[in-house]
Amino acid sequence: MSNLGTSENPLLVAIIGSGPSGFYAAEALIKSDIEVNVDIIERLPSPYGLVRSGVAPDHPKLKTAINLYKKIADDPHFNLIANVTVGEDISIEELSETHHAIILTYGAETDRKLGIPGEDLKGSYTATEFVGWYNGHPDHRELEFDLSQDIAVIIGQGNVAADVSRILSKTVDELKNTDIAQHALDVLSESKLKEIHIIGRRGPAQAKFTPKELREFGELSDCNPIILKEDLELNDESKKELEEKSNITNRKIYDQFSVFSEREIDTNKSKKCFFRFLMGPKEIIGDVKMEKIVLEKNELSGEPFKQSAKGTGETIEIDTSILFRSIGYHGISMPGVPFHESWGTIPNEKGRVTENNGDTVNQLYTAGWIKRGPSGIIGTNRACSAETIQCLLSDLEKLDTSVKKLGASEIYSKLDNKKVRHVNFNEWSQIDAKEVALGEPKGKPREKFTYIEEMLSVIE
Ligand code: NAP
Repeated sequence: MSNLGTSENPLLVAIIGSGPSGFYAAEALIKSDIEVNVDIIERLPSPYGLVRSGVAPDHPKLKTAINLYKKIADDPHFNLIANVTVGEDISIEELSETHHAIILTYGAETDRKLGIPGEDLKGSYTATEFVGWYNGHPDHRELEFDLSQDIAVIIGQGNVAADVSRILSKTVDELKNTDIAQHALDVLSESKLKEIHIIGRRGPAQAKFTPKELREFGELSDCNPIILKEDLELNDESKKELEEKSNITNRKIYDQFSVFSEREIDTNKSKKCFFRFLMGPKEIIGDVKMEKIVLEKNELSGEPFKQSAKGTGETIEIDTSILFRSIGYHGISMPGVPFHESWGTIPNEKGRVTENNGDTVNQLYTAGWIKRGPSGIIGTNRACSAETIQCLLSDLEKLDTSVKKLGASEIYSKLDNKKVRHVNFNEWSQIDAKEVALGEPKGKPREKFTYIEEMLSVIE
């Protein structure tokens, strides 16, 4: 019997990605009754993944998850190795030599494709790009969004579409005391947008917002939510969906749409957010830059809860040169790890990584969006990571202990040999403190650094 997990031979785990699922995996390991050392490896100098760069700046409550992550990071068995890209600076193969187990928690980094002509024209952006830009993510710092026109179109009716539309609809006063990146606030303050069209390919009974997020559109200081009453008419299958007891979320959403459709338009407000249904994106037209989007009117077909949108052949066009595709995220592959291309996830059985034929891959585990796809809220990842850790802990006997593993110290020597500037949690805390200090005079919780060099330059 191996003595793995004892103080003489602690379990060494490398976690790749420091978003919620990475931190929850670390938490479950640290709270287990074995001796374990966890190294979380992160591509950016800053941890917390989408809690830092995905959650909308005007939703600060959602960011309080960070308080728990800081407590986890305080544990002596936790270590952050940030500013290191797995697959470039260090390989999965190298990590399999330094650690007993590797947990892949790097999320879903890209977006699903619409697969229509003109999708990549200038002016047609992914929601990820816009969200990353206003949240100060270094990958998206240099993007430019032209808000000098009347109309913006958002494709998709999930919570990310709600975030994007709300940020476009808010005034500077509503955003200036949040942690929105300054460059984004400057551009948004010059916005000339008057109409924001949020397009659903299915009907009002199938929208994927959560009720709270939808309600916020009724509380905007300079924007009216607009829904035409006739757009709320339902087919029999959708009525059945809303009658189903367990479908309380969609019923609440539908009721909120009804409230919006009854409201008088406040003529003192300069913007309008139109929620439009049963319209599928067909083509984006333009030369170098997009000039319009062609939408095809849809009808629903199929059983209740399985209804899909089918084009009717009738089209409408919206003239605009700015569009955001907010149709869900998609994971990307990691060299040396099996991958399911069309799902954008790592094949797995309850978190144990498998080959596409179902065989378990020794040493590799996964959790979060790259395990199960991009769904759920921050807290959903806690149960997801706990399930993975349960599998890992029950596999201890199967892990290779024939060669002594050296964990973080060996990673550091490999990175130092390659002259990779890695960042630890104390160094991140210096960046963090500096951001908070920069935000204070502006009444912001922090002013984020948006270039990696800036972050590294404040470490003493
Ligand atoms: P999502 O909830 O899956 O919504 C995607 C939307 O895009 C749906 O309306 C979907 O319509 C539509 N869509 C997909 N493919 C399409 C296509 N080819 N053409 C037109 N429309 C298409 O994804 P998300 O908004 O990216 O959110 C991801 C997850 O993060 C969700 O679980 C969300 O709740 C969560 N999140 C939560 C918060 C929060 O708690 N405040 C904030 C942001 C995100 P169909 O229904 O027809 O597929």
